[in-house]
Amino acid sequence: MKTIRDFDLNNKKVIIRVDFNVPMKDGVILDDNRIKSSLDTIKYAIEKNAKVILLSHLGRIKTVEDKDNNSLKPVSIRLSELLNKNVLFIPETRGKQLEDAIDNMKSKDVILVENTRYEDLNEKAESSNNEELGRYWASLGDIFINDAFATSHRSHASNVGISTYLPSGIGFLIERELKALDLENADRPLTIILGGAKVSDKIGLINNLALKADNILIGGGMAYTFIKACDINIGQSLLDKDNIEFAKDMLKKYKDKIVLPIDSVNRDSKGNIRTCFINEIKEDETGLDIGIQTIKLFKNYLLDSKTIIWNGPVGYFEEKPFDNGTKEICNILKNIDAKKIAGGGDTASAVINLGYKDVFTHISTGGGASLELLEGKKLPGVIYEKENY
Ligand code: ADP
Ligand code: MG
Repeated sequence: MKTIRDFDLNNKKVIIRVDFNVPMKDGVILDDNRIKSSLDTIKYAIEKNAKVILLSHLGRIKTVEDKDNNSLKPVSIRLSELLNKNVLFIPETRGKQLEDAIDNMKSKDVILVENTRYEDLNEKAESSNNEELGRYWASLGDIFINDAFATSHRSHASNVGISTYLPSGIGFLIERELKALDLENADRPLTIILGGAKVSDKIGLINNLALKADNILIGGGMAYTFIKACDINIGQSLLDKDNIEFAKDMLKKYKDKIVLPIDSVNRDSKGNIRTCFINEIKEDETGLDIGIQTIKLFKNYLLDSKTIIWNGPVGYFEEKPFDNGTKEICNILKNIDAKKIAGGGDTASAVINLGYKDVFTHISTGGGASLELLEGKKLPGVIYEKENY
């Protein structure tokens, strides 16, 4: 796979698809992490004397009114501050103003084009990977670099479309993500911590991870379906009825790898909270977190691991005290010398919001894209070697 390092960027018009899909309210950026995580690729291109043309989407554009709230203009201002350099914002996604601006670029100049999804008002041209649009955007540059990891599981004109018509590669952010989530080449033992709410969301993931990992520690809401599959009463805890058979199957096939909770922190219908052994959950109780015994059990597996990949909080972390399991796992990881990866939308926000960002070697920034990688799928937006270049 080609990366930005494999191209001579000198004086070339380099189109970089970045992920500037930042949370925004009334034109104010609430969190600029996504802008920051694309800086090294942009800076590298500037350093190599490229003419840098940036494309990104922001939010969803379904009606003309959506345009006002989702302009990339505020992002261009923030980016300019972060780069300490002028960023020319072009308030359109195609046309003369954009083409003239690109014609007038000198090397090291940076242009940010308006939200690619403005094109969705034109029969979803961007999101349906309209061929003409991909070809048009490609015509504006010499080289295409995709660095928007979080959309790389989708085929859009601004990632897959453009790459069809230009020599293409990936940027540093995608490269880091692919490396972090590479199960094939991970140091072993490889332990997976799986949690979250629904088994049904994670079937593909469980199937793939069960094959590749040495240990699978299951917590969170999904654990209760596995417990139920062992014919143990789970009270009112989350149950994915349609997947009890799947869970039984997995437990049979991978009995040496799968580790289930041995205790549970529950809340009953009156609001009382108590911890009990896993086979003592009462009918009116809901299991909302793993207990201390489970944390100890998981710890034994984690201590021996060389790579740990975590998807899915092990408890209902949004509410105290059910964040305890997730926090304690973070505390254990803090003291372990292994490659530690967190991935998934809620997992990333849980570990960051609970204050454990620094514990991890890598926190994956792409929710759906990270999950698809862990499912063993190839991402369409990741430019795999193409014959024609
Ligand atoms: P990710 O987005 O990282 O893939 P998920 O979406 O699968 O993670 O799961 C996150 C959700 O799972 C959180 O909202 C969390 O509250 C919920 N959850 C975890 N454990 C439980 C539980 N025991 N009961 C109910 N919900 C739970
Ligand atoms: Mg989620």
